[in-house]
Amino acid sequence: MATRTNILLVEDDPGQARFVETLLDEAVGTDITVTHVDSLSDGMQAVRFQPYDAILLDLNLPDSYGLDTAEDMLKVAHNIPVIILTGDGDNEAAVAAIRAGAQDFINKNDLTATLLLKAARYAVERKSLEADLTRKALYDDLTGLPNRRLLFDRMAHAIARAKRSRQPMVIYMLDVNDFKAINDKAGHRAGDAVLKEVADRLKSVLRDGDTVARLSGDEFVVVVENQDSLSVSDAVKDKISKLFSTPIEIDTQTFPVSVSVGAVTYDGHGVADDVDNLLHRADIAMYDAKKRLKSSRCSAKVPRLYSVN
Ligand SMILES: [Mg+2]
Repeated sequence: MATRTNILLVEDDPGQARFVETLLDEAVGTDITVTHVDSLSDGMQAVRFQPYDAILLDLNLPDSYGLDTAEDMLKVAHNIPVIILTGDGDNEAAVAAIRAGAQDFINKNDLTATLLLKAARYAVERKSLEADLTRKALYDDLTGLPNRRLLFDRMAHAIARAKRSRQPMVIYMLDVNDFKAINDKAGHRAGDAVLKEVADRLKSVLRDGDTVARLSGDEFVVVVENQDSLSVSDAVKDKISKLFSTPIEIDTQTFPVSVSVGAVTYDGHGVADDVDNLLHRADIAMYDAKKRLKSSRCSAKVPRLYSVN
C-alpha cells in the first residue's frame, strides 16, 4: 500500500465507526487517515473532492438501504475500490454489490485490524490491476493510441450523437505509403519508431474530443465530430498530409514518409450507417487516394509518349 492511505468510512453507527477508526489507527507499520461520514449523500459528496484509496461502506444508512447504497456509491467512486461492511442479514445484498462492482465485503462481526488492512490492500491492488488490464485492452501498446476495440466504441457513441444533433462527423482512414519498404529495409525497430512518430504527429493536430486510433499495422483512423461544414473535411485531409512534409528522423536515419487519406462523412441521416459500414467506406476512399497517388507516380516516371493517362 502507498505510504499514506486515505480511507473513507461511510457508517451511521457511531460505535461501529469508532471501532473501525480505532482498529485502523492502531494498525502497525501503516499510515492511514480515516475520514468518517454517516450518510450516503455525504459519502458521495466526499469522493467528488478527495481521491480516496478505498471506501468502507455500510449498506444500511439513514438515506439509503441495501444494494441501492452500493450501486449509488459505485456510480461516483469510479476507480476507488469499495469494500462493503455487512451486518447480519446483509449477505445477499453484499454478494449483489460485488456483482455490481464492489471489490470485497467484510462482516462487521469479524472485524479485526488485520482483516481490514488486508481487504483494503487487496482492494487497492486489484483495482489498479483492473485499471491496467482495461488500459491494455483498449489502448495500443506501441503508440498509446486507442486500439480497434476502443475506436469501435467511440465511433458507435459518435454516430449516436450525430444522429441526435444532425451535426456531421467525418472519419478519416489513413495509412503510411510504402510502409513495408521501411520495415524491410530498416528493420522492425525502425518501423515501430516511425509508427510512433506518425501517431504523435496525428495527435498534434487534433482538438480535444477528436479521436485518433490505430486500426492495425500502419493504418490509423481519425474521427472528428461536429464538423459544421462538409468542405472542412478536405482542409483536414490536407492538414493531415502536410504533417508529413518533413521526413521522420530515427536515430541517424531519415525516412521520408507520406500517407494516403480517405474521408467519409456521416451527417446523422440514414439508419444503415454503423461503424463497420463507415469504416468500410473510409477504407475504399483511402484506396482510391492510394490508386491516384500510384498512377500519378507512374505518369511522372514513364516518358510522356508511353503514358496511359
Ligand atoms: Mg448502518
